[in-house]
Amino acid sequence: MQARYERRLGAHALEVVVADITTLAVDAIVNAANETLLGGGGVDGAIHRAAGPGLLAECRKIGGCPTGEARLTAGHRLPARHVIHTVGPIWRGGDRDEEALLAAAYRNSLVLARAHDCASIAFPSISTGVYGYPGRAAAEVAVTAVAAELSQFRALRVVFCCFSEPAADWHREALEALVEGT
Ligand code: ADP
Repeated sequence: MQARYERRLGAHALEVVVADITTLAVDAIVNAANETLLGGGGVDGAIHRAAGPGLLAECRKIGGCPTGEARLTAGHRLPARHVIHTVGPIWRGGDRDEEALLAAAYRNSLVLARAHDCASIAFPSISTGVYGYPGRAAAEVAVTAVAAELSQFRALRVVFCCFSEPAADWHREALEALVEGT
């Protein structure tokens, strides 16, 4: 088991963990959903299973979410207060705006977190499962996009919740590069 990894940027704390995101007691967990918001596999399936049927009922009322945008629901049976559902891009080789859309998914999730007074948020590695975005590149986008929004918050704790050690390494390396560059 890897030691907990944390880097501070001013009043903010950026962490990398390997965990099941449904177990995290933070103000909001982010779901890597699809545009229907009606559930799927991967992290989306895990979140719906853990949250219970109330989450799907709430998602049905929202009526979907375009790629790059985000929508907020309650956490239902999860330890997290909110779920922020965002839709990352499907990787199609890299020249179909994937990077901008992935950055937008992180940014728009944080806009909602800010609007709902969240002080802590956990992200999965959006788009890196069935959507096929290369993991190392996705980690760099994730860390850069999150860092760019921190000034909107007084003090935010961000957890990059990875599901494998390689994914955690990529996030740690991206964070190191970011901290060295500041
Ligand atoms: P996408 O469709 O955006 O690619 P996936 O759910 O297929 O979404 O995968 C996104 C990432 O979430 C992958 O890196 C996958 O390993 C990870 N993942 C899957 N289940 C969980 C979980 N319970 N907690 C955290 N991350 C998870």
